[in-house]
Amino acid sequence: MSEKQKLLKELPSVDEILKSNDGVKWCRTYPRKYVLQAIRDVIDMRRKGIMEASSTNVSVEGMSGEIKMKIEKLSAFGLKPVINATGIVIHTNLGRSVLSEKILDNVRKIAESYSNLEYNLEAGRRGKRYSHITGILREITGAEDALIVNNNAAAVLLCLSALAKGREVIVSRGELVEIGGSFRVPDIMLLSGAVLREVGTTNKTHLQDYKNAINENTALILKVHQSNYRISGFTEEVPVADLKKLSEKYRIPIMYDLGSGCMIDLKPYGIHSEPAVQSIVESGVDVVTFSGDKLLGGPQGGVIVGRKEYIEKLQKNPLTRAIRIDKLTLAAFEATLMEYLDEDKAAENIPTLKMLLQRPERIKERAKKIALLLKRKVKAAKIEITKDASKSGGGSLPEMEFPTYAVSISPDNISVNDLEERLRKGAPAIVARVKDNALLLDARTIREDEIGSLVQGIYAALY
Ligand SMILES: *Cc1c(COP(=O)(O)O)cnc(C)c1O
Repeated sequence: MSEKQKLLKELPSVDEILKSNDGVKWCRTYPRKYVLQAIRDVIDMRRKGIMEASSTNVSVEGMSGEIKMKIEKLSAFGLKPVINATGIVIHTNLGRSVLSEKILDNVRKIAESYSNLEYNLEAGRRGKRYSHITGILREITGAEDALIVNNNAAAVLLCLSALAKGREVIVSRGELVEIGGSFRVPDIMLLSGAVLREVGTTNKTHLQDYKNAINENTALILKVHQSNYRISGFTEEVPVADLKKLSEKYRIPIMYDLGSGCMIDLKPYGIHSEPAVQSIVESGVDVVTFSGDKLLGGPQGGVIVGRKEYIEKLQKNPLTRAIRIDKLTLAAFEATLMEYLDEDKAAENIPTLKMLLQRPERIKERAKKIALLLKRKVKAAKIEITKDASKSGGGSLPEMEFPTYAVSISPDNISVNDLEERLRKGAPAIVARVKDNALLLDARTIREDEIGSLVQGIYAALY
């Protein structure tokens, strides 16, 4: 018998490997389908290796490391954590807002147990899912009533459908743009059955334009916040206060799609373009909608606050049932909103706000720590700290640049683009920016507890 034939004969069968200690262990932890596939793949590879005279180790033990790696790769989750080194805090592609430990504790508590989701414990009968958050939303925003649906796009759709189906909605042409690559007011309007009545021009809309468009078929005046764009230069938009006067005179409700929906006053931080939800409610807007996971820093959701008569109409609409939030979202919302009872607590305890409003010196400290650890481990790259600017992202604060510090890496042996790609495909996945032929790790969005694996990941990518 030739050496090749001998080795082929020795090659264990799928069944033999399955029955080995490792095989039994794998089947307990991983899907059996993937264990089988990995075993077959590695046996095939060995067989080929023998034919090409390169493989000699055909023992079960000698193959188990490779099989294990294959199983892990096959059974890895598709959705996984990513280290966000872009500095973009509300990164829509990376999941927008991250939730704090405290908020997650509440989600866990509600998830692992039955709850009073739709049961009134006082009265011993059926209760309302939304009753758990209306009180606190009223408290924080000053609105009469509130509702939360699946996301802000759904919130806008619901409002238009419930309040203006078959009738006209007046919108300024300056506000008819696409937000986040998929949210277009005209499309949502069409879907809702409301009729879009565009007024003004892209750069200028006057109160008179709104007034001229009003007729007996007008159901709503809609204002859309210029979330992710600014039309600059020779522009004019009608202030909410003026629209409010018009709305009162003609008895037509005003709705404001705020997009981001910030619930703290950002002016003390030098940000003047993002009106707080409270001030919009106070100005007399009847219905206000905003996202849960943008500047609010909570889970995905569409928050609707406003006058009771309109919120009640929304609650009765069948669409509300189709776009309702689940109990996990509700639990996350309640815990998030609780932080807003004190503004300073919100700025400290809500990760999105904390990262966004962080003082540059604090970011610099973290950048220094990362750079120091990297320099100790990595010799094949130039590593330094550089001043840079981060963006808020998520269609929020488009014109704002937040001063930040980043760790800049210029590798000696591979290109910057190769490094970027390896980090992206690595474990953990690290998403970073390339600028001026260096890789930038913006310390703003890197958590303290991620630093260890970040450094490890960069080391692995460079060697
Ligand atoms: C982001 C945004 C939306 C969409 O909100 P989602 O929560 O992503 O559905 C709608 N309107 C405005 C003005 C926005 O900024």
